[in-house]
Amino acid sequence: MSTAIPRIAAGKADTIVIGGGIFGLFTALTVAEAGKSVIVLDKGPTWAEASAVNAGSLGVQNKLPALVPYTLWSWDIWNTLPDRLNDDLGLRRNGGYKIALTEDEAARLEKVVAEQIGSGLEAQRLSPRDLCQQAPWITPDCVAATWSPQDGYASPTRVGPALRRKLKSLGVRIIEGAAVVAVEKTRDIRVLTTAGDFYGTELAITAGAWSATVAAMLGVTIPISLDVNMVSVTEPARPTIGCIVTHARGILTLKQVANGSCLIGGGWQGIGSISDSRKDIDHDQLVHNLRLALRVIPGLAQLNVLRSWAGYEGVTPDSYPYLGRLPGHDNVYLAACARGGFTLGPLMGTLLGELILTDHPSRPITIFDPGRFTNAAA
Ligand SMILES: Cc1cc2nc3c(=O)[nH]c(=O)nc-3n(C[C@H](O)[C@H](O)[C@H](O)COP(=O)(O)OP(=O)(O)OC[C@H]3O[C@@H](n4cnc5c(N)ncnc54)[C@H](O)[C@@H]3O)c2cc1C
Repeated sequence: MSTAIPRIAAGKADTIVIGGGIFGLFTALTVAEAGKSVIVLDKGPTWAEASAVNAGSLGVQNKLPALVPYTLWSWDIWNTLPDRLNDDLGLRRNGGYKIALTEDEAARLEKVVAEQIGSGLEAQRLSPRDLCQQAPWITPDCVAATWSPQDGYASPTRVGPALRRKLKSLGVRIIEGAAVVAVEKTRDIRVLTTAGDFYGTELAITAGAWSATVAAMLGVTIPISLDVNMVSVTEPARPTIGCIVTHARGILTLKQVANGSCLIGGGWQGIGSISDSRKDIDHDQLVHNLRLALRVIPGLAQLNVLRSWAGYEGVTPDSYPYLGRLPGHDNVYLAACARGGFTLGPLMGTLLGELILTDHPSRPITIFDPGRFTNAAA
């Protein structure tokens, strides 16, 4: 006689979504709005990882040229979101400056902006003099800059709860503390978690930096490396910085949010690894990040930094996200690892939902094929 403890059958739905960050919640929203039953599983609280701790930039100028159209399509969703979720999401589309401090950076800025404009970005080149007139709070030492009215930001701490409320109103079950430990495919898909077993017809893997671990449960290798990004927040100040500021080398993002605090990021790396769940500040890197911020906006010297933190971001070898079917599995889907995934998340989740629902997402997704590295190696 078997002595194994029987596992609990905890739930069944048309679609099981693994991961309750921005990718997973938008996938769930799209599928639930079409009338399907959905269960979202998360190992911890939902909206507690990258989607919660990011800097909130919704930048178009800081995207790879091929991703500019996707960013603009994602902005189409962002623009409707406060009404759709019936909430103030701290959404502002008040443009952004991208600056260069050296001639090399200016050349790089020019090359990238020309390609981005070719892909749909609206941007103007600014001389140092133009920049000084328009944004006297930015250092006069800039060699070149661009301005785009298409950049903006939103509040990650407002978006998550609003999305969760919307999903609950649609009948989506959100199960927190349900770490997925195995996935079995029989007639249905069986997802074994620390909170019991869940059954579905389709499975969406939207587990952010952990997506490779979940894909491996189905025998699929997806290359994902880890960034440990840092962000800092200052004490509130008088409103001065009217839009986001980014850097030609992608090493600075800066904005002043509604309460007057400035959020400073730029992809400077902290210390950590997924295996031991460590994510800490690297103080040397942080100092570089803050010094650069001060150099670009000298007035920040008046402000204390209140807190700095780090979060995980999954990265693909070509920096394009994964979006599509998991190789070799008709009814398992994956969306993960966009650089700037807070900006792109609404679109990525929507497209994954459309793929699940109709097999024909409303935008081309071939470049995001999750099998593009696996297949090449086969
Ligand atoms: C510090 C920082 C700053 C950033 N700043 C910006 C920015 O300003 N603008 C921008 O556009 N992007 C930014 N990003 C990137 C952006 O935040 C991410 O790309 C995006 O949030 C990823 O969303 P996601 O849903 O894929 O992943 P996540 O939000 O990480 O969600 C994945 C979820 O999967 C769950 N999960 C994982 N494994 C399992 C399992 N086995 N079982 C169950 N659940 C599981 C996790 O608990 C988590 O909740 C930043 C990222 C970081 C870390």
